Amino acid sequence: MTFRRAVLSLVCASSFVAPAGFADAQQNVDMSALQAEAVRRTREYLRINTVNPPGNEVESMRWFARILKQEGIQFDTATSAPGRGNIWARLPGGSEPALVLLHHMDVVPADSKYWDTDPLAAETRDSVIFGRGALDTKTLGVVQLETFLALKRAKIPLKRDVIFMATADEEAGGNFGAGWVVKNHPEAFKGAGMLLNEGGESALEDDGRMQFAIEVTQKTPLWLKLTSVGRPGHGSTPSPASAEHADGEPADRDARQARYRDRKVRRQLGDAADLNERKAITRFARGGTRNRCTGTTDRACCAA
Ligand SMILES: [Zn+2]
Repeated sequence: MTFRRAVLSLVCASSFVAPAGFADAQQNVDMSALQAEAVRRTREYLRINTVNPPGNEVESMRWFARILKQEGIQFDTATSAPGRGNIWARLPGGSEPALVLLHHMDVVPADSKYWDTDPLAAETRDSVIFGRGALDTKTLGVVQLETFLALKRAKIPLKRDVIFMATADEEAGGNFGAGWVVKNHPEAFKGAGMLLNEGGESALEDDGRMQFAIEVTQKTPLWLKLTSVGRPGHGSTPSPASAEHADGEPADRDARQARYRDRKVRRQLGDAADLNERKAITRFARGGTRNRCTGTTDRACCAA
């Protein structure tokens, strides 16, 4: 999804504004300028080293604080431990339950040996920005930030408060981040009735329809100490060759890949809503192609 569509869908998704207000929002916001600003900021953000551990999110917290200050928006910050920063700000609106735009500032480690670019350089190649945290979740943070700033700049009348929040430590349990803010600064969430974060998502389809994906839970950490050899990768997007999935698998890489593929297909079949979808997944797993990606098949398609 392009940045423009992401912002539009966020603005729509939140029902921040009355219908007339939304039309104003579209007119009053210079989307091209906003997009250029978002790209520049995404690259700046990716260059701030917030690899967790140790996180050091105070650096990115200060970066957000500078931007909010420039825009004349009040904000609060809190450090949950040395180097672990959190920041939030609120645009006042009407009496509807407030909406929180939440993302985490920390990223998982990256070994530059396995990267084509410096993972903290935010290089652009063929109009794609490469950097640790680009997907998880610094780009989301910038989309939320620019939406928040656009609402403020355009003086859009809001039906509800909108809260921007960037937290530490999501990748290692959240004890210094969102969980800590809930416990120690409950006022940050005052009046909140909805929260947009990674995982669940909204999208503006080509035909103008809104799509909402709702995530009801996430896996939780089980800390074990293991030594495993293989390619590094993010635990949320397993690859058959990655170190964390090598343990307990057949030693031969082809056998591992076959087992992994079988397991994945079985899981997808279990998710498939109807017979046609099941057939499409089976065909795809056998090396066929799919013309159309929808619903659960879309996720399978993207993951495959
Ligand atoms: Zn994440």
